[in-house]
Order: sequence, then C-alpha cells, then structure tokens
Amino acid sequence: MTFAIHGLAVAPGIAIGRAVIAASSRMEVVHYFIEPEQVVPEIKRLRAGRDAVVEELRRMQEELPADVPHELAALLDVHLMLLQDELLENGVKRWISERLYNAEWALTTQLELVSRQFDEMEDEYLRERKADLEQVVERVLRYMRGVASPVAPPASPKRAQGMLPGLGEELTEDPLVLIANDLSPADMLQFKTSLFAGFVTDVGGKTSHTAIVARSMDIPAVVGARSSSLLVRQDDWVVIDGDAGIVIVNPSSIVLEEYSFRRRQVSLERERLSRLRHTPAVTLDGQSIELMANIERPDDCDGAVHAGAVGVGLFRTEFLFMGRGAKLPDEDEQYAVYREALERMSGLPVTLRTIDIGNDKPLDKGHRDGGSLNPALGLRAIRWSLADTSMFRTQLRAVLRAALHGKVNLLFPMLSSIGEIRQTLAQLDLARAELDARGEAYGDLRLGAMIEVPAAALMIRSFLKHFDFVSIGTNDLVQYTLAIDRADEAVAHLFDPMHPAVLRLVADVIRAANEAGKEVCVCGEMGGDVTMTRLLLGFGLRSFSMHPAQILAVKQEILRSDTRKLCEWSQSILASDEPLAPVAPA
Ligand code: PEP
Ligand code: MG
Repeated sequence: MTFAIHGLAVAPGIAIGRAVIAASSRMEVVHYFIEPEQVVPEIKRLRAGRDAVVEELRRMQEELPADVPHELAALLDVHLMLLQDELLENGVKRWISERLYNAEWALTTQLELVSRQFDEMEDEYLRERKADLEQVVERVLRYMRGVASPVAPPASPKRAQGMLPGLGEELTEDPLVLIANDLSPADMLQFKTSLFAGFVTDVGGKTSHTAIVARSMDIPAVVGARSSSLLVRQDDWVVIDGDAGIVIVNPSSIVLEEYSFRRRQVSLERERLSRLRHTPAVTLDGQSIELMANIERPDDCDGAVHAGAVGVGLFRTEFLFMGRGAKLPDEDEQYAVYREALERMSGLPVTLRTIDIGNDKPLDKGHRDGGSLNPALGLRAIRWSLADTSMFRTQLRAVLRAALHGKVNLLFPMLSSIGEIRQTLAQLDLARAELDARGEAYGDLRLGAMIEVPAAALMIRSFLKHFDFVSIGTNDLVQYTLAIDRADEAVAHLFDPMHPAVLRLVADVIRAANEAGKEVCVCGEMGGDVTMTRLLLGFGLRSFSMHPAQILAVKQEILRSDTRKLCEWSQSILASDEPLAPVAPA
C-alpha cells in the first residue's frame, strides 16, 4: 500500500531506495557495518552476551528463596525461553551475516520485527510477553556493552558503490535509504562513509546535529517524520523528497517515474553548478566574498577543496570525541587529526572549534553529561571545557602544536560573558606554559569567538576587544533568542531565522565587527542557505562558512548579486515588525 509521511525537509534532493530500519532509540545502540570477515567474531560476541544472560538467569532461578511467589519463577522461565528462541537467534544471525550489521544493530532490528509479531497476536497474555522480550534483549545489550567489540566500526566500509547483500537474496544493487527513530550525531558519522542514498528520522528539528550531518553528507534527508520507523518496513521501497520533506512509501509506478525524473533534474543542476568551481566568488560590483567549509573530520577537507572552499570556517572537533566509549582521544591523537586537516587544506586556513559537547552531541555513556534537565541550557560547549580544564588544555596543547603546520584559527563555542573569555584565555596561556615546560614547539593562532548566545551578540563590542575574529552560530543564536529547542520537531515550525529579533542581532554583530576592522563569518546553517545569501551580503557580510555541498549554489547567488542594491533593502527587512520573505530586488 502506498502512503506518505510528512516531516521536515533538511537536505535537498530526491532519494529512491529500499528501507533499512535502524532500531528505535529506546535502546541506544551503535549502528555500523562490519566487514565480511568479521561476521564470525561478531556472532560469537552476540552469543557470549546471550550466554552470559542465560547463566545469570539460571543462577537467579537456583538462588530463588522458597517463599518467592510462583509467578516470579515462571517469569524467569519465560525469559530463558525467549532468550533461547530460534526465531530471535536465527534472525539476528542473518542480519549479521547477510546484511553485515554489527551485533547490537542486528539484535535490535530483530527485536523490532519480532515485537511486531507479538503486537499482532490475539491472545492478550502472549501479546504482553513483548515487554519480556524487550527486557531480555536489553540485558544482552548491557552484557555486550561491557564486552569490548573486537570489531572497530570501520572508517570506510568497502561497499562504497552501493552494494549490500540483501536479506534472503543474493546480492542486490538497489540503493538503500535509512529509516530510524533517531540517530545520534555519532551514528550519523559512522554512516557518513557508507552507502545510504537518503535518511529519514522520526524526531529532530531542522538544525539538530543529526540534520546538520545529513546535510554535510549531501544526501536527501527528512527529519521529524513521526512514526516513520514504525510504519515503514524493512525493504519497503521509499522515495525521500528532501525538498518538500515528504517520504513516500511503496510508491506507484507513476509516482516513481515522476520522482526519477526529478532526481535526474537535480543531478543535471549539480553538473551545471560544478562549472563554477574555479570561478572566484565576486559580486557584480566587485566585492570579493570568502566561501569556507564546515567539516566534522579531516576526510571532509577533500570535498571542501574540491568545492573550491578557501579554507575551513568551522571544524566541529567534538565529533572526534563521540562514539569513543571510555577512551577519548589524547593529545597526540588530536594533534595528528588537526595536523592532517591542515595538510589536506594545503596551506589554506583551518578554523578549529574547541569541543562543543553536550545538548544533542553527548559523549558516550560513562562520561560527564552535566545531568541537566535542560541540556541546551546546561553544561555545554565552553562551559563543559571550563568544567574539565585538564581535558580542555589537552585539546589546546594539541591545537597549539598543530599550528606549526598551517594557519590555525581557534574558535571558542558558546561564550556568554567577559569572565568566561578571561578564563578561556587563561587556560590557553596555561597550555602554552605546559608546552614550554616540556620544551615542545608550537605555532601562532588567531583567536575567535562564536557568537551564538544573545548575550554575546548584545555585548559584541566588548567581545571584539579580546578576539581577532568572530563567527556567528545562527543555529544556536536562533535557538536561544527565540527559546526554541533546535532539536525538537514539535516546535520546529517556530524556529525562524527570519525573525526580526534574530536578524537584528546578526546584522549588529556584522556591523560591529566591520567597524572594528575584525573579520566576521556566519558558520551556522544560515551561511549555506541560498535564500539568505543576499540578505547577509546586504548586512555587510563578506565571509560565509557552510557544508562543502552548499558552496557552489551560494557562489552562484553571489555572482548574481550587487551589494550596492542590497543595503537599503536589507535595512527594510530589519525594520519590519514581522518576519518577511527574503526576496531581494532584482
Ligand atoms: C551554530 O550554532 O550555528 C553552530 C555553527 O554551531 P553548532 O551547530 O555546532 O552548534
Ligand atoms: Mg552552536
């Protein structure tokens, strides 16, 4: 049966493929593909987890006091039976051996399938056994978490050309699309090098980090498509319309034809844009504009250079720290990664932002998460770094050392007061002193502040005294100015970058920086949004940072713009009481 699910359009384009369902976030597990030779050890790991739980349950059974209610003993029997059930075990093995899912992913995928069968049962007693099944699976997962995976998530799976063994089939070359309840930014990073043609998640807002990573992968994505992971079944054919935010499940042949046509149009348009790669980004009135790239890891630099970026405007270094279990990268590892990014950019500047962990970018369990009821307002970004100064200085030392190998701009996220700036700069002095004491050489840095909290925007003139440059993080600036959780699809319709309150802050930061002769860049999603390019040019912005995939479209907009005609118009947008559409005069 054909049906459509509506969500939020977060990454443009059309994807058509078969659905791969990632397990619901109720059980947080990592998702990655293993190599074929890792199938056997992965199945062993799964068995070890299951056997440990079986043993634990048997021990509990033996040790049950005589006066314990009969139901409890019966419940343990049920759990043992479910654990040893063939449907569960064989299914999981097939997901591992045929789809090459890691064991946790395979287990939770099979759980979803079996759970559906329970849901359909007539008998109420049997239906209720679903909860038992979930409990035993959770126990197994807990055991497996305690046992390190022998299989490190591969950095770049071999099956890059879109080939994946299909369940119960030989090889299928059908493209695959990923449907999930939610994907953590760390999960998204794992999938970055894999083969999915598109993404859909049940939850998430337009500037949630999951959406941002999806955009950086340059594949169509829809988030906030509620219940999609329940409604879509494994292997269903799915069309993802990343422009309209629609997911069409089991499309008819006419619909498929229409979308295939649109997909071809999109690739033709991309081809046309690719001719602009070597064209300098200069407006009709001769203003030279700097277009830089946002990246999550050094590999992304190649895409940045290829798209003609003149540097990295934002390296979100926190992605190095996610999905790392207990072991976070030490100074040497970080140094090697930052150095690699500098070398890949061949002398172009790289803006390294210190770790912005917290909120919707958590570290793995076992690390401090601030325990805040409202993590967006809690121990996040620079607050987190200043709460763990030893880890912060490890990062600062790595950055200082890497600066010997290229032009490094160091950017601090979420600063909100001068006191915080002083503490931050004091940590940097201390990091330098530590390197001096070790006799270690280091390079020069240019220092910058992210302007993403209204307090920072309102204090911009004071902030500028302490920095060489500022970078406007519009994702958080919108979130904090309008009090809209950027990751919550329930309030996504209120997340409005065109709100005059936001625009006035953005315009004032640009003006203040220009007056002070300091560089200012927009590195939030607004920077890569072609509908905002002319408005930002009108405000006086001359430096933009965005996902590499957005650079050419923004460049096209710049080549067609005359900044002399944009100033007056942009002021009229600012003066409006209500959000206006950013339609610039011809
Ligand atoms: C922003 O807030 O706009 C930004 C660039 O930082 P992040 O999206 O990583 O929070
Ligand atoms: Mg931010």
